[in-house]
Amino acid sequence: MKYEGVVIRPPSEAHSLILQVTVGCSHNKCIFCPAYKAKRFRIKSFNEIKEDIDEASTYTPHYRRIFFADGDALIIPQPRLLETLHYLNQKFPKLQRIGIYGNAKSVLRKSIDELKELKAHKIGIIYLGIESGDEETLKYIHKGVNYEKMVEAGRRVKAAGIKLSVTVLLGIAGIERSMIHAKETAKILTDIQPDYVGALTLMIIPEAPLCQIVESGKFTLPSPFELLKELRTMIAESDLHSCLFFSNHASNYLPIRSRLPKDKDSSLKLIDEVLSSGNESMLRPEYLRAL
Ligand code: SF4
Repeated sequence: MKYEGVVIRPPSEAHSLILQVTVGCSHNKCIFCPAYKAKRFRIKSFNEIKEDIDEASTYTPHYRRIFFADGDALIIPQPRLLETLHYLNQKFPKLQRIGIYGNAKSVLRKSIDELKELKAHKIGIIYLGIESGDEETLKYIHKGVNYEKMVEAGRRVKAAGIKLSVTVLLGIAGIERSMIHAKETAKILTDIQPDYVGALTLMIIPEAPLCQIVESGKFTLPSPFELLKELRTMIAESDLHSCLFFSNHASNYLPIRSRLPKDKDSSLKLIDEVLSSGNESMLRPEYLRAL
């Protein structure tokens, strides 16, 4: 497999075959994101992708799950995406589900019918980074879309019958807008009703433009307990009808895995116990945190 640079995948795709169909991210402007800053975005040619599919299917034709990397692979124009999916389905007869990263802009370039067409070719889950429901924060981090467009994109994925997994980012609004961010994020999650929510915690990475802003003193990360309050607010104030909400990513201080709405009370109780204890030893230590 001819992977270019570091290839990133969601934790839930750990056992999937990773097929790199794009290199980098078509947006690549989010100030907190170091992921693809060293890569120039391009869509791989069908021949390049075909070579990887041929190689993988020769040695491991049994894969049931495949993930399309890099960031925002959904930006690939529909005819090319369908050509790839068609070939992939021929070569992997046991294939059950293909996962793909998308951002709101790439989702909105597809109609519901086009998304349904992708579903018919086994695109079963789209991973969308929401980060925040706070308009000001979305602007500040250069997310490239506003609240309304993010909701429209999320709802469109759901309307096509494709599972939607979203990420939100604790700490991304800094200390000043911490609670506004938490409340507005609870609101956007309620408006979208994703199937999965992953709450990650912002980590300041030197390659990300935000690092310089932090160093200049213009952005302050909330403390670990303030971040926990954000998490609490997102769970308490969202009204999710059927969602797996988790914060067990390595960047987080407190791992939570909550089937909402069933586990809402028990999850809030756990967070409250840690908050009222004020005991830092109940949190994941800094040296064990990672992206
Ligand atoms: S957060 Fe997502 S959309 Fe933003 S630059 Fe990183 S990969 Fe691209």
